Amino acid sequence: MERSQTKKLIEEVVAELKDQDFLKMDITDKKERETVLNSAGEILKTTDKIIKSYIRVSREGGMIERIPAYRVQHNNISGFYKGGIRFSEEVSESEVENLAILMTLKNALHGLPFGGAKGGVHVNPRNYTERELNLISKKYVQRFALNLGPTQDIPAPDLGTNDKIIDWMVGEYKTINPGQAYTGSFTGKSVENNGATGRRESTGIGTFLSYIYLLNAWFLDKKENTSMEYKERSKQWNTLEKLYNKFKEADPIEVAVQGFGNVGSIAALEAYNCSEVKHRVTAVSDQFVTLINKEGLNIEKLVVYTDKHKRLPQTSQQLKEANLEAEINKPQDILTLHTDVLIFAAIEDQVTKENMKDIKADVLVEGANAPVSVEADLFLQEKGKIIVPDILANAGGVHVSYLEWKQSRVTESYSKDEILQEMSSQMKETFKKVYDEYFTTREHTMRFTCYSIALRRLITLLHRHGKLF
Ligand code: NAD
Repeated sequence: MERSQTKKLIEEVVAELKDQDFLKMDITDKKERETVLNSAGEILKTTDKIIKSYIRVSREGGMIERIPAYRVQHNNISGFYKGGIRFSEEVSESEVENLAILMTLKNALHGLPFGGAKGGVHVNPRNYTERELNLISKKYVQRFALNLGPTQDIPAPDLGTNDKIIDWMVGEYKTINPGQAYTGSFTGKSVENNGATGRRESTGIGTFLSYIYLLNAWFLDKKENTSMEYKERSKQWNTLEKLYNKFKEADPIEVAVQGFGNVGSIAALEAYNCSEVKHRVTAVSDQFVTLINKEGLNIEKLVVYTDKHKRLPQTSQQLKEANLEAEINKPQDILTLHTDVLIFAAIEDQVTKENMKDIKADVLVEGANAPVSVEADLFLQEKGKIIVPDILANAGGVHVSYLEWKQSRVTESYSKDEILQEMSSQMKETFKKVYDEYFTTREHTMRFTCYSIALRRLITLLHRHGKLF
């Protein structure tokens, strides 16, 4: 889903809010409410600050390379700017701005006290040595230091970055700002460097939770305890019923996971080890390969292999080394497999109008940001599929980031259990709010429902802060 689609969706949601009861308590006059909502739409469709800079790195061969780098601060009405930094060859200003907008919406949807930002460096980290990556990370902080800080803008890891890179960045931030509080300047740090235990696993755990909560808690509760028929969403209801009957009959639910990094490997492990409902992970992929085994892949062995080699096994020899059996296919093949659940944990724009007709999974979960286009979302929903959108599903990381940031302010640390429990109970509250609203309304996608809840919060804050005159 591209920046223009995100902005258009914001416009559509705001237009619909004009016809609803929203803000009627605050503003009774219809004309005034319309003006206020138009202003809010304009503010939220546009971005506070886009900073582009260039990082110069001396490569191992002695050559100097100039690399584009970005920090985009979309909106901070609900708190300090917050959002990851990605190292990827796909990074562009428009991609980073889109991701910053999604962060504003995600934090508002989940009621977190942060605004939205994102950072990016146009590099493929695989092509750089450790020394070069260290230089890139430190220079990123030098370039954007004036705009970063624990009460200003708090980055975290994302695609292509990790706790090691964040630790280097914190080190540089501390050097640039001697004597100032620095532990809350970044989240996603290593545990040894004041990071939160469980941060690395949190996005993958939360992504799987968004789906299993829907099936095994929300659906079960509604099915057993209410007489509502959910006619507005009968196709999606039937999809849940079909999956429910499957596991009732001790038939494992099949799962495929695109991307086997931070988010994907953990989401796959969650499915593999899920004790409440039996799952079988029949396919996983990364940027080089899709591995398929209809009897189920041993995810624990795959995690051991990828921890060592930083990629999935790609040849029969490598599968042998990993002690695994699987069919080797092309990376994109994972998208069109027959499976019950497809979890996205790689990059944007994976399902678009080009391939939406070939998607066979019943439930699509966006662990990655923006993998499904607006057109594909509507088309697949019409077919009765359930698409759990990014800003709902992949917020585990920012929930734990909030706790990591809070730790630095109260100078205490929480245990892993405390952190994961707090994250899951907070996320479940948001899931319930979204699923209750989605299943009792007609037409719109679940993404629309999420945007609507998030925008209602943001617009209320803009209004209460007196920003809409
Ligand atoms: P990662 O770098 O750890 O892993 C990315 C995985 O995707 C790797 O297995 C890589 O091989 C694969 N991949 C890359 N390009 C691909 C392609 N073209 N086709 C198929 N696979 C490809 O990244 P991550 O942290 O796991 O992030 C994955 C996604 O989740 C991103 O969209 C990111 O924005 C989103 N996300 C991450 C977090 C987090 O806490 N890490 C939080 C929210 C959202």
